Amino acid sequence: MRYSQMLLPTTRETPSEAEVVSHQLLLRAGFISKLTSGIYTYLPLGLAAVQKVAQIVREEMNRAGAQELLMPMVQPADLWIESGRWRKYGAELLRFTDRHERESCLGPTHEEVVTDLARRLLKSYRQLPKNLYQIQTKFRDEIRPRFGLMRGREFVMKDAYSFDVDDAAAGLSYQNMYDAYHRIFTRCGLDFRAVEADTGSIGGSFSHEFMVLAETGEDTLVICEDMQCGYAANVEKAAVAPPGGSVAGEAEDRVMIRVETPGMKKVAVVAEFLGATPKQVVKTMIFLADNEPVAVLVRGDREVQPVKLKNLLGATEVEPLDDKAAYDLTRLPVGYLGPVDLPLKTVADQEVMAMANCITGANEKQYHLTGVRPGRDFQPDLVGDVRRITAEDSCPSCGGSLRLTEGIEVGHIFKLGTAYSEAMNATFQDSEGRERSFVMGCYGIGVSRVVAAAIEQNHDDNGIIFPLPLAPFQVILLNLGLGSDAITSAAEELYRRLQEGGLEVLYDDRDERPGSKFKDADLIGLPFRVTVGKTLEKEGLIEIRERRSGEVEKVPPEQAA
Ligand code: ATP
Ligand code: MG
Repeated sequence: MRYSQMLLPTTRETPSEAEVVSHQLLLRAGFISKLTSGIYTYLPLGLAAVQKVAQIVREEMNRAGAQELLMPMVQPADLWIESGRWRKYGAELLRFTDRHERESCLGPTHEEVVTDLARRLLKSYRQLPKNLYQIQTKFRDEIRPRFGLMRGREFVMKDAYSFDVDDAAAGLSYQNMYDAYHRIFTRCGLDFRAVEADTGSIGGSFSHEFMVLAETGEDTLVICEDMQCGYAANVEKAAVAPPGGSVAGEAEDRVMIRVETPGMKKVAVVAEFLGATPKQVVKTMIFLADNEPVAVLVRGDREVQPVKLKNLLGATEVEPLDDKAAYDLTRLPVGYLGPVDLPLKTVADQEVMAMANCITGANEKQYHLTGVRPGRDFQPDLVGDVRRITAEDSCPSCGGSLRLTEGIEVGHIFKLGTAYSEAMNATFQDSEGRERSFVMGCYGIGVSRVVAAAIEQNHDDNGIIFPLPLAPFQVILLNLGLGSDAITSAAEELYRRLQEGGLEVLYDDRDERPGSKFKDADLIGLPFRVTVGKTLEKEGLIEIRERRSGEVEKVPPEQAA
């Protein structure tokens, strides 16, 4: 492709609305153009990069025995009412009414459509297993679209769905996809991890996320330091091992005493005032769980993990309340709350129940209690693992040490079981003639997000450094001698040869200064830069520079390809 003919609007300025590197570079290097919040046009280079990812995904899905199809983007509400998600999915689902007053939505995912397809087209166990996939634009009305292609409202996803006769067969389909995802992200040239994950609004019983390791990731992962163990999980999901033995047993049994703690609402302040540490304090926090206030207890130095809390409560949504909201809702002395005689549903982290002689709020302004003993002085409605894991905790799998790191979710695989097939009455006849529900799995990859994640992981101050398999072109060829017929004809000749050699070449034939061409080449980040300029006239050589290492090699033009 000739640069002079391409729609490739690079800029030097960093766009102010772009917070993360991939968003900045995708805009600056002319890959995308914003239409409105979370919605972008993929310009030719951006589309080429997305298609590189899509092609790798397609090849590996096909290799794994999946079949590509294309489902509609507009979906009737009826199917979502059947699955129960019309109400449950929330505001991310963009709903609208057509001219016949029929309610519809734009597909954020396709479990309903594909389950409907299966119940109509797959009648017998002889047709199973099936794995059906598509690469398609999804729409999710994200509450905070941001970071460019990382969290758009409209984005390209590969979604696959498997149908099996039973759990064992579904397990094989899941493993098959797990392996395919490993091949896909390895082929993309990315540093990634598969981690155990929460199942979220898709539902189901079991899942893994594929995470590209990058500082700007929105997810936090916990990874076991022992490579042999290999435990890795999203902190949303990571289980904390129950505390070993009861601390309470070792401590003398003290009586509960009410003490004045004027103006002291913060754990650290109360602890210091009472000559204790935050570890001896029980922190009482108010959450809203499906519109009901719930008190959650964790040790003073711990954080509540809302997703684990949500799962323990079996709630659809939980959110922490700030002091004012908690007071408005409960009329309780927020800041001085504690579990003793608290008139609210109470959930305690497992660790709290192993504490002894703790400090808690007294449910009275300016007062706390000391010498509180969980179990004796209060009994929570629910006890479980609701705190966020830390790097100081031990590995839930092998007991070894852990490390926390940031990641970008690029893929997510789920075992769905029969959740959708039962809700939507999707059955087949088994080998004994009985009607049975399909056992399903679903498997997503954020194809457009992979491009952003690749850039988050591969860039420097000058621009993008594309991994070779994802680069929209492999080579940028610079003609630095537009005034010289010899140089130009050598560059044109080389352009032809490189393409004949099977390379994808962006040929910079613009009438621009060399400095500007070098800057654009670095910004766009193609793996190899080939320069035809003065060295050709002087030494008969052209220059090849690798973008990542910066290493330069001079070769005769005939050897360049
Ligand atoms: P997230 O937690 O990031 O919102 P999700 O759990 O909602 O992701 P899935 O429903 O599993 O995502 O969708 C499959 C894949 O689609 C994700 O792994 C991710 O790579 C991609 N994806 C999801 N939401 C977006 C988005 N708003 N923009 C771009 N890609 C997305
Ligand atoms: Mg999401």
